[in-house]
Amino acid sequence: MERTFEKLGLPYPKPSAYALELARKYGYLPYMIERYMHIFGSKEELIEFLETVEKGLPRYIRCNTLAIKNCLDLAERLREVDIIVKPVPWLPNAFRIENNSSAAGRLGSTLEYLLGYYYIQGLGSMAVSIALDPKPGEAVADLAAAPGGKTTHIAQLMNNDGIILSVEKNPVRAMSLSANIQRMRVKIAAVLVKDILELPIKEKFDKVLLDAPCTGEGLLPIKKERKTSKDLGDIARMHELQVKLLEKSLQFVKPEGVLVYSTCSIAPEENEFVIDKVLSSRSDVELEKITGIMVGSPGLTEFMGYRLRDGLTNCLRLYPHKNGSEGFFMCRLRRRGK
Ligand code: SAM
Repeated sequence: MERTFEKLGLPYPKPSAYALELARKYGYLPYMIERYMHIFGSKEELIEFLETVEKGLPRYIRCNTLAIKNCLDLAERLREVDIIVKPVPWLPNAFRIENNSSAAGRLGSTLEYLLGYYYIQGLGSMAVSIALDPKPGEAVADLAAAPGGKTTHIAQLMNNDGIILSVEKNPVRAMSLSANIQRMRVKIAAVLVKDILELPIKEKFDKVLLDAPCTGEGLLPIKKERKTSKDLGDIARMHELQVKLLEKSLQFVKPEGVLVYSTCSIAPEENEFVIDKVLSSRSDVELEKITGIMVGSPGLTEFMGYRLRDGLTNCLRLYPHKNGSEGFFMCRLRRRGK
């Protein structure tokens, strides 16, 4: 495990006495808390993060304007079945469930759900498609697509005009992807069950999304078992896969096209370190500012004494304690040239 990590060049220190104390108190593996002390600016913020994880997060839905034109009508219909929703000010079509304890268990079985009027989705996941900013008429590739939260959102932002290639390696997950595409009335997505590492590069796309597989370190408020389920070796192995997937995904981007890399992880090793590594051999790719999302923290340019490129401040981190969202990372890369 140690050896794998030396590839990243990170001098992981032994967890401090304070990290050990918090790890015991909140039930985490100590290495995680030690890393959080380097990610968050202060002990106060670290405690705020840990406490928010304990409390959990509200549920959210995305109103699907491909199926229901007026989202206020959806809010009214849901109120009639005792599901109270409130718009999220910084994210178009996003609604927070106000009566979580009584409503959460019913969200996936209402008539409105079955009619495709909404998708149950975290705010971080919704923000990614906004960062991609797909336009009607464009050709988009969603390269790790199941179960389809982002494919269906991208189609909504394109108003069902253009084309989306949704690639998914896992055939069982691809079935949920197809079902969601149908339920959400998406007419422009084609599903391809394939490992993108084996995908021939025949077409290039205006926009490419790599919502990469990750260790899920951003999902702690939802999956408490993640506090102890992954070690540094798991994160290092995921980093290596993510580097390969990003290198391959960039080959699908048209000149002047855009790729968004995202994960539901707050691990710098799965995010800034992946981008930094891939860009070190690509002089034709630039990090671009994400517009359209008014909240979030910049990507890290330093972690445990290791310096990363300045452009990473253009990336966006979302956190449970700051944004009411699952932990998410997203970065927008533009491919220069002809
Ligand atoms: N974008 C999805 C959404 O919003 O609903 C979530 C994607 S999930 C984070 C990552 C997905 O990538 C998983 O479904 C996984 O099976 C798939 N995957 C992992 N490795 C892959 C590969 N090499 N090629 C294609 N898909 C892959």
